Amino acid sequence: LSARHVTARVAPLSSHLVLALVEDRTRERQVEAVRRDFVANVSHELKTPVGAIRLLAEAVHEAAEDPEAVQRFSGRMITESDRLTRLVQQIIELSRLQGDEPVDEPAPIQVDEIVKTAVDTSAIDADARRISIVTGGATGLEVFGSSEQITAAVANLVANAVAYSEDDSTVLVSTKGLEESVEISVVDQGIGIPEREVDRIFERFYRVDPARHRSTGGTGLGLSIVKHVAATHGGDVRVWSVEGQGSTFTLRLPRRNQETGR
Ligand code: ADP
Repeated sequence: LSARHVTARVAPLSSHLVLALVEDRTRERQVEAVRRDFVANVSHELKTPVGAIRLLAEAVHEAAEDPEAVQRFSGRMITESDRLTRLVQQIIELSRLQGDEPVDEPAPIQVDEIVKTAVDTSAIDADARRISIVTGGATGLEVFGSSEQITAAVANLVANAVAYSEDDSTVLVSTKGLEESVEISVVDQGIGIPEREVDRIFERFYRVDPARHRSTGGTGLGLSIVKHVAATHGGDVRVWSVEGQGSTFTLRLPRRNQETGR
């Protein structure tokens, strides 16, 4: 096709339309690339725990005469299977959020309830390490959307704050009402995030050097779920962190409009 030929064919179309078509194709290709990438990552991430469980099963098989070893290996099998379960749940959740289907029936949501449920989810882990989770700030705030997803997002932030904190520290969950939005902040006094890593932590499967923290059984998917939930609700999530001092994650969501009810 000569350049002139293309120009001739394109000419009758408005330049806006041409641009829109080109953008559409580019976007399609990007979506396809992201999907391929995701499948490759998922396969890789699933192989690790499945491989570990297989090896542990062999170890149990061979250690049948040694009750102490059986106990130890089977305990690790339980830990690995739990991690696998979490991984699969989060992959399903993330692909649901990335799909074109709307989030489950949107409804008015009480922020106080979200915070309470999210904090309860981490209570056992926090207690075990004498970490107190304190809540504060404005009450009676409302947002609009999927209660299940927003709860999961806040629960992820609280779980991270606990996971990446020292024993005997405090996690604060505070709420603030602005004119058009609501902010839910989760503040910890934990290990913090190196400045060069801050932009990457919201990527799928990204974990800051796993060697620097205790084994948390994390999947690297929690924050990408938080980011997607924020985006599908018209909000965002930000982080401030100082390595060795702590982090603050703030989830901002549009405040429920009293006039439109949404
Ligand atoms: P994970 O399952 O590994 O916690 P996330 O997507 O929730 O995955 O978080 C990605 C990475 O960001 C974590 O592996 C951890 O290195 C870092 N991170 C997240 N939250 C915190 C926090 N509150 N303090 C320090 N590091 C954090």
